[in-house]
Amino acid sequence: MAEFNVLPDGVSAEDFGNAIEEFAAIVGDENVFVAADNLSSYNKIMIPADSDDHAASGALAPASTEEVQAIIGVCDKYIIPVWPISTGKNFGYGSAAAATRGQLILDLRRMNKIIEVDAELGTALIEPGVTYKQLKDYLVENEIPLWLSPPAPSALVSPVGNAVDRGVGYTPYGDNFFMSCGMEVVLADGQVLRTGMGSMPNSTSWQVFKWGYGPSLDGIFTQSNYGIVTKLGMWLMPQPPAFKAFVIRFPDDADIERAVEILRPLRINQIIPNAVVIAHALWEGGAEVVRSDYYQGEGSISDEAVETMKSDLGMGAWNIYAGLYGTPDQIELNWNIVKGAFEGSGAIIQEEEDMVGNASFEYRAKLMRGEMTLKEFGLYNWRGGGGSAWFAPVAQAKGPEALSQMELAKEILGKYGFDYVAEYIIGWREGHHIIDLLFDKTNAEETAKAGQCFDELLREFSERGWGSYRTNIAYMDKVADTFGPVKKDVNQRIKRALDPKGIIAPGKSGIYT
Ligand code: ADP
Repeated sequence: MAEFNVLPDGVSAEDFGNAIEEFAAIVGDENVFVAADNLSSYNKIMIPADSDDHAASGALAPASTEEVQAIIGVCDKYIIPVWPISTGKNFGYGSAAAATRGQLILDLRRMNKIIEVDAELGTALIEPGVTYKQLKDYLVENEIPLWLSPPAPSALVSPVGNAVDRGVGYTPYGDNFFMSCGMEVVLADGQVLRTGMGSMPNSTSWQVFKWGYGPSLDGIFTQSNYGIVTKLGMWLMPQPPAFKAFVIRFPDDADIERAVEILRPLRINQIIPNAVVIAHALWEGGAEVVRSDYYQGEGSISDEAVETMKSDLGMGAWNIYAGLYGTPDQIELNWNIVKGAFEGSGAIIQEEEDMVGNASFEYRAKLMRGEMTLKEFGLYNWRGGGGSAWFAPVAQAKGPEALSQMELAKEILGKYGFDYVAEYIIGWREGHHIIDLLFDKTNAEETAKAGQCFDELLREFSERGWGSYRTNIAYMDKVADTFGPVKKDVNQRIKRALDPKGIIAPGKSGIYT
């Protein structure tokens, strides 16, 4: 009998061995991974948690919806849980690893077909393994003038993975789930559901009308474990005739209040139509320089060191990256409104022509026009040691709340000796307050402190009614608890109805059968 490193909970080595043979008959031997060496890429996590607690029993890479259905049949027979990933990057949220130990990773990267792009309607239908780069290349090669809205680790990741985990990009189509339209989902009983108009045979409007008829179901397949998304419809933004990127810099940390107050009406009224980033100095600097160039002392980086870095790099404490889109005339009109709104605020406004050769500006400008860049990975060198966990509370787009969240986060991070490396992404009426808790994962003591710090952030923010929009695999139960017992109960009842044996991704978002 084969030796297995990790077995799914309650499954004997013999049963697991038999299941693996059945899986191999479905996807081919070369697409079944059980040896420890072949699983290392699925087990590497950056968060402050023990990778053993999340270790995979194996991984499978199917090539079609039919293969996924057949896999689910075998999982049902042996009660083996599968954790679907699209490209499995999910950096700082758990990478490709599952919420609990012993799950089989269902790696959908081979399902990478661009099924349809409708250039007139600005829609696409794609499989989970399609990456942003692949889709962009397709649009360029076929001279289709539509833009994507990738998240920061753009080129490598998939629109499907990002949308189903409710990630964001930086163009006017920044909220990726909001801009999705229609899903194909494999359920735990092996049936295939098409949401919205897609349930109707021969529907012509699956990718153009979200709601279909009756209850709208797409949302329940995001950040959840109710099904495996095997196709997703997307709305793509027509390339505008002109685009103007700019940055507005405020000198002091406390200016976040003013920045958000001025921005809110510009966003709500669509003068600035994109998902705007307000990057804090340490985020901005972290993509350019390393911490040890400025600070070697104990605890969080000192205010003096931050000031030196800000002046060396010409940054503000807060740096607003935004864009204008439309015809040159529309842009000029809106630019005057934007400049007027910030007049007298103490902010410095810089346009593209002022920023030629500035790498940070170029990277932000690229993201705002839906292009690929990997520059944000520079952040991981800021402190060194490879540890990163995103703490991601939502704030309403009001200055005093943005300021209070910043103050609380800085205080808690400071207690544990960590830096406030953060940005706000201003959507329609809220800010995703994205805080990168960076730590040295090679240092056990620092890793334990990072875990305690994350716990305290979560506790203190939740007490004030500030909930997380997304979290990593080690904190899913705890974040689910912060949303109260009724939500948890309903989540579980849906789970039991759709997946009574708990085959799909147990523990995702704190949901179990
Ligand atoms: P990316 O590599 O695009 O950042 P991932 O593939 O890591 O995204 O997906 C992020 C998370 O979303 C996964 O951990 C998983 O919980 C969920 N997920 C991804 N793809 C699917 C899918 N096709 N069906 C259901 N859930 C998925």
